Amino acid sequence: MKNLIKNILVVALILIAVLLMFSNSEQGLIFNEKTKTIAISELVKLINNNQVVELEIKKDNVVIIGKDNHKSIAKINDGESVFELLKFYGVNSEKISNTKVIFKEDINWMSIIWYIIIALVPLYLLFMVFNIFGRQNKQGPGQMFSFNQSGIKQFLPNKNKITFKNVAGMKEEKEELLEIVDFLKNSKKFTDLGAKIPKGVLLMGSPGTGKTLLARAIAGESNVPFFHISGSEFVEMFVGVGASRVRSAFAIAKKASPSILFIDEIDAIGRERGSGIGGGQDEREQTLNQILVEMDGFDNNTNVIVVAATNRPDVLDSALLRPGRFDRRIILHLPDINEREEILKLHLKNKKINGNVNVRKIAERTPGFSGADLESLANEATLLAAKNNQKEVNEEDLLKSIEKVILGPERKSHIIQPKEKEITAYHESGHALVASKLKNADPIHKISIISRGRAAGYTLQLPTEDKNFSTRLEILDELTTLMGGYSAEEIIFDDISTGSANDLKVASEKARAFIMKFGMSKLGPISLAEDESIFLGKSLTSKHNFSEELSAKIDEEMSGLLNTAHKKAKDIINENKPVLEKIAKTLLEKETLEKEEFYALLEEK
Ligand code: ADP
Ligand code: MG
Ligand code: ZN
Repeated sequence: MKNLIKNILVVALILIAVLLMFSNSEQGLIFNEKTKTIAISELVKLINNNQVVELEIKKDNVVIIGKDNHKSIAKINDGESVFELLKFYGVNSEKISNTKVIFKEDINWMSIIWYIIIALVPLYLLFMVFNIFGRQNKQGPGQMFSFNQSGIKQFLPNKNKITFKNVAGMKEEKEELLEIVDFLKNSKKFTDLGAKIPKGVLLMGSPGTGKTLLARAIAGESNVPFFHISGSEFVEMFVGVGASRVRSAFAIAKKASPSILFIDEIDAIGRERGSGIGGGQDEREQTLNQILVEMDGFDNNTNVIVVAATNRPDVLDSALLRPGRFDRRIILHLPDINEREEILKLHLKNKKINGNVNVRKIAERTPGFSGADLESLANEATLLAAKNNQKEVNEEDLLKSIEKVILGPERKSHIIQPKEKEITAYHESGHALVASKLKNADPIHKISIISRGRAAGYTLQLPTEDKNFSTRLEILDELTTLMGGYSAEEIIFDDISTGSANDLKVASEKARAFIMKFGMSKLGPISLAEDESIFLGKSLTSKHNFSEELSAKIDEEMSGLLNTAHKKAKDIINENKPVLEKIAKTLLEKETLEKEEFYALLEEK
């Protein structure tokens, strides 16, 4: 609204200025004193008495300029000859020939104003449209009309201040970062000793491990200006904008030094690289180069520390990791059981929780959950409790929400045809049965034929303890388990449904990694991993850096692995067909089988 008023004022000022310019000539519209109108006969008298210096003859009037520069007007009819009139009234022809006479085109003021308005209105509208677009885009990623601004935001610590207290666990990481904060606060202490203050800190970790949270906590702890910008904001529709944004972001941070500049999701500059969308390769290269240039330009007196976060340290360009750039690297792991407990407690603190809830138990059941998952778990449980009109959140709500976080909401209302339900029941029972017969497969946590997300049913396996890696035998058993659903359908219905598509996809990917990444196949210890990174010039061509023969061998290994898994799954099901029938029938009846129910069924004779 303020802008609108401002714009109107500007236009009004322009209009007035234009009018003033024109009105400088006599007989201006607004600002002239009133001129006296006299009759032609009077004019004749004035001429004859030598009172007139100049006559300006216009379309329908005559302006008379007298000796003392006094102005008056005599009206005539359009088209009438002034001289005829003057003669008619008996003007002295000698006197008139001594008077300066000017013929003037009459200016039609109204039409001029109209011209101006007509010209200005569309201009003004255009201006407004640009303005509105510009404003809208500032909120979205586009920022079409504000290209060269950095898009940098200063984090204001007063508003819901986040400190290290809000970050559970991560003891070592916090310590390391405290040191960084100390560098900024007492830089003299370090430089006096000749120490070089680190320029960059890179936070690396999978999504939801708390990188952004940690960076905000640094802002809260350090009490120095903290600027943040997201990597995706550098990537723009217009070429060259990214680099200039980097420049202005760094300029702002330097001006406020000592300060912290946080670049979130720095891999965004790289992730789209080579995909050809929006700007192309050069643009990202320029943006990245500009970051490197800026960081190299820091001298020892520049008290700016650049903190960057990425989900994909594997794709980061090595130039970024060179000494003198992001040489402090902090890796955020998925929380272990103790940290999960702490994070859960932190997020349950402001919720009404039943005193009997065993948070440790929840932490035990959530291996592989990130901080963000745990936060969402706490919230889902609270929502569930509210939905059931409970006064407090119970342990059961939390346990139920674990599955929701893993698999998405149940689609109870989703109607499945009886035939499809039967296929799903046998399919899931197949997975569960096969897994239960394998030594290195994770135990069954739950089986269900209630569809969730896109899956018609699911078999949930959870590891008994925190796992940081898998072994060869575990992956082989995983492959066999994945084939369990497919094999069960084959054996029971003598047919196969499309429901196995995802299992086969996951199995194929696993098998490929088994051979090419982990060196677990007959090809031996070799990494043929396709370069996932298309970052900084590492091109798509690196995909096939091995020979045709090797490629054929990989294919052979692939089908070997998958066929073996398939055969093994089939064998298990054939040997235990009655058990499969029993599980599937119970599942059709109850829709969901908990861990205990499932293992009880297996024990039953
Ligand atoms: P990232 O940036 O790594 O993807 P975020 O920092 O955005 O993850 O984390 C998402 C949310 O997860 C945070 O807002 C926070 O509530 C929660 N979270 C993650 N890690 C922790 C932690 N260690 N302590 C408390 N909350 C956490
Ligand atoms: Mg983040
Ligand atoms: Zn399946």
